[in-house]
Formats: sequence, C-alpha cells, structure tokens
Amino acid sequence: MSPKGSHPKKASLIVLCAPSGTGKSTLAGMLLKKFPELKLSISYTTRPPRGEEKHGIHYFFVNDAEFKSMIKRNEFIEYAHVFGKNWYGTSKKVIEENLAAGQSIIFDIDVEGASNLKKSFPKECLTIFILPPSFEELEARLRNRATESDEAIALRLATAKKEMAISNTFDFQIVNNDLEKTFLDLEALLKKRGCL
Ligand code: ADP
Ligand code: 5GP
Repeated sequence: MSPKGSHPKKASLIVLCAPSGTGKSTLAGMLLKKFPELKLSISYTTRPPRGEEKHGIHYFFVNDAEFKSMIKRNEFIEYAHVFGKNWYGTSKKVIEENLAAGQSIIFDIDVEGASNLKKSFPKECLTIFILPPSFEELEARLRNRATESDEAIALRLATAKKEMAISNTFDFQIVNNDLEKTFLDLEALLKKRGCL
C-alpha cells in the first residue's frame, strides 16, 4: 500500500458501475475515506440536487442550456441521458489533468458512460460492475434509501434489469451482499491491479 498522502502506484480510472441502489456510492465513499489519495470524479448533471447534495461536491448542477453548451464545446469525455430524464457528463479536462499528475480517480457513472470511458482510455480504465445479491434486495435498498418517488424507483428497477444483463462486459463483477466483505474484495482487487 502506498503511504498516506502519496500517489497510488499507477494512475487509474476506477469505474464503479451498478444498478441504482446497489451500493456503489457507499463503496466509493468507503474507498475515499480509507485511501484519501484517491479522488472522486465530480460529474455535471441537469438533475436537481437531492437531500444534502452540494454543488461542486456531489455534482456540478447545471441547467439544460449550460449542459448543451458544454457538449457543443466538446468538453465531455462522455455524457448520457440517464433514465430518459436528466443529462450526466464527465469533464474531459479534469481526467486529462489528473492522469497527467499521476492521480487516480474513481467514477460513479452509468453503463453507457463506463463503456465510453473504457473506449477512450483502454489502458488506464478498470471497469467494475457491482451486482445486488437479488432483485428483491435491490428494490428493498432503494425503498429504504427513501430518496426517490415510487415512479422513479420503478424506472430505476426497469433500467437495472437491462444493466445487469450486460454486466459481463465489465472487467470485473462483485456482488454486494455483506458490505464489509464487498469492500474487502474491492480493496483486494484494486491492490492486485496496482491501483492502490
Ligand atoms: P447507489 O450509489 O448504487 O445508488 P447507495 O450507495 O446509495 O447505492 O446504496 C443504496 C442503499 O443501500 C443505501 O441506503 C445504502 O446504505 C444501502 N446499502 C449499500 N450497501 C449495502 C449492503 N451491502 N447491504 C445493505 N444495504 C446496503
Ligand atoms: P443519480 O441521479 O442517482 O445521482 O445518478 C443516476 C445515474 O447516473 C447513476 O447510475 C450514476 O452512476 C449515473 N451518472 C452519474 N454521473 C454520470 C456521468 O458523468 N456520466 C454517466 N454516463 N452517468 C453518470
């Protein structure tokens, strides 16, 4: 393991992808806490802030016009219309600057974004699909989180089925059953791949 505060061995783009409600934000948070040398990629989105979310920390919250101007200026390495509702995108400049500085980044993006990022950075990008232990448990986690309406939950569950069907296109798959065990598996994988 690299000493606290130093850069990890290899600048990597670590993509955590999972159906909404599986636990990827929780796992990303645990990684960032234990390995402060890692950095989270902050996406741009047209979705309004949820709960305690803050601009510049969880997302850069922008309106449709601002997002479209960024597309026109070619500022995104990838962007997607997620759940047929809101736009989400990853800044090209931020990735290039961090990689040049030897800084690894964690991404919490959807399957389309993961696949596009992998195409742009095949060597640096490690894609990990986190699976829920079952579809019923996924629904329970989404309902317990209590951040979405019934309608939004139904949409996320329908999307989850399509996402899980292509989980085998990712470099690795991990089932998030017991959170502590999942975290240890994830940590071991990242160490083995020279990301930590
Ligand atoms: P995502 O970022 O994938 O949408 P979250 O990290 O917000 O998912 O997790 C969804 C909910 O499930 C949260 O309430 C979280 O505390 C809970 N959760 C995460 N992992 C587990 C787990 N292994 N077992 C039970 N609950 C979990
Ligand atoms: P949420 O609205 O729950 O924060 O995110 C909805 C979905 O958008 C999640 O699957 C999340 O991973 C994805 N997402 C967040 N940022 C980006 C991004 O920059 N690009 C893409 N393609 N998806 C993103």
